[in-house]
Amino acid sequence: MQTAARWAGFGQTVFTEITELAKAHGAINLGQGFPDFDGPDFVKDAAAEAMRRGDNQYARMFGIPDLNGAIAARFTSDTEIAVDPDTQVTVTSGCTEALAATFLGLVNPGDEVVIVEPFYDSYPACVTLAGATARYVTLRPPDFRLEPADLAAVVGPRTRVILINTPHNPTGRVFDDAELEAVATLAIRHDALVVSDEVYERMVYEGAHRSIATLPGMWERTVTLSSLGKSFSVTGWKVGWAVAPEPLTAGVRAAHQFLTFATATPLQHGAAAALAAGRDYYDALLASYRRKRDLLAEGLDAVGFEVFVPQGTYFILADHRPFGFPDDVSFARHLAAEVGVAAIPPSAFYHRKADGAALIRFAFCKGEDTLRAAVGRLQALRT
Ligand code: PMP
Ligand code: GLN
Repeated sequence: MQTAARWAGFGQTVFTEITELAKAHGAINLGQGFPDFDGPDFVKDAAAEAMRRGDNQYARMFGIPDLNGAIAARFTSDTEIAVDPDTQVTVTSGCTEALAATFLGLVNPGDEVVIVEPFYDSYPACVTLAGATARYVTLRPPDFRLEPADLAAVVGPRTRVILINTPHNPTGRVFDDAELEAVATLAIRHDALVVSDEVYERMVYEGAHRSIATLPGMWERTVTLSSLGKSFSVTGWKVGWAVAPEPLTAGVRAAHQFLTFATATPLQHGAAAALAAGRDYYDALLASYRRKRDLLAEGLDAVGFEVFVPQGTYFILADHRPFGFPDDVSFARHLAAEVGVAAIPPSAFYHRKADGAALIRFAFCKGEDTLRAAVGRLQALRT
């Protein structure tokens, strides 16, 4: 074994494993969350044009001016918080790098970080890299509400960061005002920071997305993260960002400059063009995802799953126990190999694997024909 000890216990990501399994069995891949359709031409054209005109050298460390400006303008129009593009916005290589830069830049060894689970699997890895200790608060079916009492039980004087994700992958929960206020109250009481991952902010079918930075006393202690990949169907571009007041931005940049230094220049030009999109673009995106959600949710229900219809994101969690498998991993293997549909076993998103064993996650960022074909194959479970 040559791998450094800090990675002990992490292994290969579930996304790599399931994508390979899907390929090996020719399964319809509703596993890893990436669209099987392309991003919009106006975004790709802007990146291609930048590449052709020679914008191919290192970008400014914290983002090209046009993109920082577009991120600040969109954040302000969403939140009514005035943001300075040069001192409060940092462009990163995906939200994943923004997470790493935020934790390495703002968290000290020995600090505690509260993670809401099920979690995006890079959260515990970032916390470990920063030398901090993770404390977990679990969202439970059927509503996956963030219970204030559960949160209060793990937030304390050693808490440096409460890390939230809304709309939430994989449960689809969109935190309401009461949930956000519970986080804010505890963060203020214990002088903790909040890191808010909002990459699915434009995919909300029920309820309303609210950035926690808009709550009283929260802007000064919040790092808000997002990225281009989900809202513009270009997950492979890995362009993300962090918005935070100067003292927190300084920490994010301290790490970002040594992690990647800067993000791919032509793709930043594409991102700047993307963020100039108006309401029409987002309305059409949402309408299309709502149809996909309803199509898959109804299909899964008809097959016999207990479906937890998501308020947001492009994922559906379902309870697979009607089909008699002992856990999510054996069910996911059966689905890929015998049924021809790949899905993610969510136990990978819990610190106690048993908490995810009854569940399976399907991604619906796929063409409607693909989703129909998947539902068709899933009928095999009924026999
Ligand atoms: N946060 C969440 C909750 C995600 O689901 C994902 C990716 N699917 C990311 C962050 C990573 O975003 P990016 O691809 O921009 O790194
Ligand atoms: N977050 C994406 C998902 O949940 C996957 C990202 C990745 O592969 N790291 O599907």
